[in-house]
Amino acid sequence: MFKRVPGTRDILPDQIKQWQKIEQVSRRVFSLYNYLEIRPPLIEESSLYQRSLGDATEIVQKQMFLIQKGEDSYALRPEGTASIVRAYIENNLDKTGNLFKSYYMGPMFRMERPQKGRYRQFHHIGCEVIGSRSPELDVEIIALADQLLCSYPVKGYSIVINSLGCADDKKRLTAQLREKLQNSLSDLCDDCKVRFEQNVLRILDCKNEKCKEIVQKLEMRDGHLCDPCRGHFETVKAGLASLNVKFEVSSNLVRGLDYYTGTVFEIKHDNLGPQQDALGAGGRYDNLVSELGGPQTGAIGFAFGVERLILASESPLTDAEPEKLVYLISLGDTAKKQGVIVLNTLRNAGIPADTDYEGKSLKGAMRKANDLKAPFTLILGDNELQKNTIVVKNMGNGEQKEISMTDLVKYLSA
Ligand code: AMP
Repeated sequence: MFKRVPGTRDILPDQIKQWQKIEQVSRRVFSLYNYLEIRPPLIEESSLYQRSLGDATEIVQKQMFLIQKGEDSYALRPEGTASIVRAYIENNLDKTGNLFKSYYMGPMFRMERPQKGRYRQFHHIGCEVIGSRSPELDVEIIALADQLLCSYPVKGYSIVINSLGCADDKKRLTAQLREKLQNSLSDLCDDCKVRFEQNVLRILDCKNEKCKEIVQKLEMRDGHLCDPCRGHFETVKAGLASLNVKFEVSSNLVRGLDYYTGTVFEIKHDNLGPQQDALGAGGRYDNLVSELGGPQTGAIGFAFGVERLILASESPLTDAEPEKLVYLISLGDTAKKQGVIVLNTLRNAGIPADTDYEGKSLKGAMRKANDLKAPFTLILGDNELQKNTIVVKNMGNGEQKEISMTDLVKYLSA
């Protein structure tokens, strides 16, 4: 028997309502903010990720699903931002003169050690805005994330924000951090010893207990920020406060990808399993568009992990009442043929309908109609066929009526 690939999941029909609900609510909220959907491909040249996320990041070093075809190397997308920036530049969307406000949803792929809340194929719902450095846009994006969570609804999360500052500030932050960590180097975990050389900022969000303890004592503060970046961050904080969006500032929040600059944020929740607490994350990446060959322009985005939204939601995120099906029972071969036409007529009239294809007895078919909670069961036999009628049984009160076939749609619609 074949098994699914470790770290992937089957989303079965009885689980799909939750997913559809999250997607539907997200589309509605994104449209309130004037974001339009974008669907980039699931594979890109792997060099796109090396260039944008950075060679020293865990994703690029260890987690990409690579496909080698002759000279060409492709990767299944580990995240959405790089593809969307690539699409923005390749399709000349900077020339439209409009701010590019996009959202996306779909699978991402990372070679991780699978566990609760951590998969190798998981799903993002996210958004990217390209074309503005305005701090009010940072406020909009974080408020949008907050509104999405309230709308799903997910409760008990916290929004943590920080500013990495511009490229020079980030260099200063890296140097300060190296200096502060120098004396604790031998106490860091093996991964962080490598990070110290290659990607020192990543040490700040290491999950190892000993590293967390060292990091907590660092007292990073915001000494790395230049005046304009400090001003930008102050405006963002004041803007969020004016909207009553609750947030905490943590100078230990860094986001490990190379492309992040300026405001970064993470949304944390306690219900996600022992090894992770992030429901979603994002930030500014004001240098990425130009680094990938586009114009020098500001950009910001975030992504939620859908599996984690589902884990964090206290009650199932389903619609209260699914639409009810009418169930048709055709007795005998001729009635079965006519039944196909009846079903087709109902469905074309917008009435959800189904029938038995497994050769059930009348009793078995009735039981099925009950299981489906059908409000009406239709019974079609030779008798009815001859008179061009059909028996309609109201499953609520047990009443049966024989009505003319031509009146059926009108009767059920009423
Ligand atoms: P990231 O791009 O790593 O910041 O991911 C954004 C969000 O996607 C995270 O906050 C998680 O909710 C989710 N996520 C990231 N990696 C995984 C994974 N391997 N499995 C499930 N969800 C993930």
